Amino acid sequence: MDAEDAHASRRSLLKTGLAAAGAAALGSAPDVLAQSRSASVSTARRFRGWVSRGSGAGRTTLHDLTLRPITGRQVVVRTEATNLCYSNTGAVLGLGPNFGGRLSTMALIQGHGGVGIVEAVGPEVRRVQVGDRVCVSGTPQCGSCYQCLRGRADMCQFLGRQGPDDLVPIADMRDGTPVYANSHIGGLAELMVTFEEWVVPVFTKASAADLGMVCSCVAVAGLGATTSQGVAHLRQGSGGQALVEPGSIVAVVGCGPLGLSGVQGARISGASTIIAIDPVRVRRELAMKVGATHTLDPNAEGDKLVERVRELSRGPHNRLWAGGRDSGGLLGGAGADFVLEAAGADQAPPRVEAGPDPTGILPLRQAYEMCAPGGHIVTTSLPRGNLTLPAVLFTIGGRTHHAGQAGGASPMRDIPRLVELLDKGQYNAKALATSVIPLEQMLQAYEAVVYRTTVTAIMTV
Ligand SMILES: [Zn+2]
Ligand SMILES: [Zn+2]
Repeated sequence: MDAEDAHASRRSLLKTGLAAAGAAALGSAPDVLAQSRSASVSTARRFRGWVSRGSGAGRTTLHDLTLRPITGRQVVVRTEATNLCYSNTGAVLGLGPNFGGRLSTMALIQGHGGVGIVEAVGPEVRRVQVGDRVCVSGTPQCGSCYQCLRGRADMCQFLGRQGPDDLVPIADMRDGTPVYANSHIGGLAELMVTFEEWVVPVFTKASAADLGMVCSCVAVAGLGATTSQGVAHLRQGSGGQALVEPGSIVAVVGCGPLGLSGVQGARISGASTIIAIDPVRVRRELAMKVGATHTLDPNAEGDKLVERVRELSRGPHNRLWAGGRDSGGLLGGAGADFVLEAAGADQAPPRVEAGPDPTGILPLRQAYEMCAPGGHIVTTSLPRGNLTLPAVLFTIGGRTHHAGQAGGASPMRDIPRLVELLDKGQYNAKALATSVIPLEQMLQAYEAVVYRTTVTAIMTV
């Protein structure tokens, strides 16, 4: 940067800072995100993207789009890969309850994560440079909001800034319709236009599909829950400690890509017993391949599922005076030291084995009950309805429940570390990326995801 540029950008920064302070005082969400309107970076070019709007099947179609100039803290990323997240099904395929209101009338590129190469940055961006390889994280981390400062980057308050008033147009359709990026990401396109808070630079030569897998929202959540410094420990100010310790007994409820990443994370963290629970046989077999020591079919076990996990968690003996685990008692006796709950509600009836409860409530309750007194449970799913728990277990049962985004992972701290697990061969991305498809086949691949006939679909661009 020469002296004149430095002077100009300092001047624009001062100007922007004042504007942003004014916007924040007024509580104006869009201006908090699109801080500066000065010093635009012109990157206009055409690209293809899947645009969703309206209702019902057919709401998502492929379009030629023209990129708008970027500004402030915006970042343009040339997409290499993005995962087709189950939670996005309603919005992409027009199934389920997860879309509606004003957002459904806007032309929106769906997808909430991906990996790629930075093509352009706004004048205020510091975190990444043009040419960097990045993960566009489904969970942002600004580093300076209340939640980030108290150690809860998974709850970064920018995450809540993605309503219809928060989104900014990033491109135009041929007829001039403005196009927005879902979650400020919009992974289902050749370009993602996001903000600095959402990007994490990663320094790796991994293939696009492998990197897309490990950086996906679901893998970050599963690996984050099982290999990151635990949320409870962070809040106690102890400096952090993983919740899964060497020798732990771990149960994973739901073996989609999130649960199967959790199985791998538990293995990486040194768990001695990993019990993988899923109604789909293929997924149980995959769980064994990537690190589970036992599998259980919740349909076959029925009401006995929790008891079966307790049996498998008792260890070699039950002599209480010799460190043994109790096998009964008021508080539920033995159980898993750590439970990862990753089941959730069905968005459509599966075309493989269906689970015992399409709302996801039963597996959630079972996950809580199978946790040992003194153990930890991390919940990650999107169930439907209300949860009823045995009240005594809840009040004095000694289970610590962690609820959060991304399994409690802190994106800037943890995503580069998770990429290292891929690069060192500890995380098996290929086993979980059961469909790797080009942009044009996105809709068919999404159907395989929603009907659960594939585990994970990674779209490469
Ligand atoms: Zn997701
Ligand atoms: Zn934040």
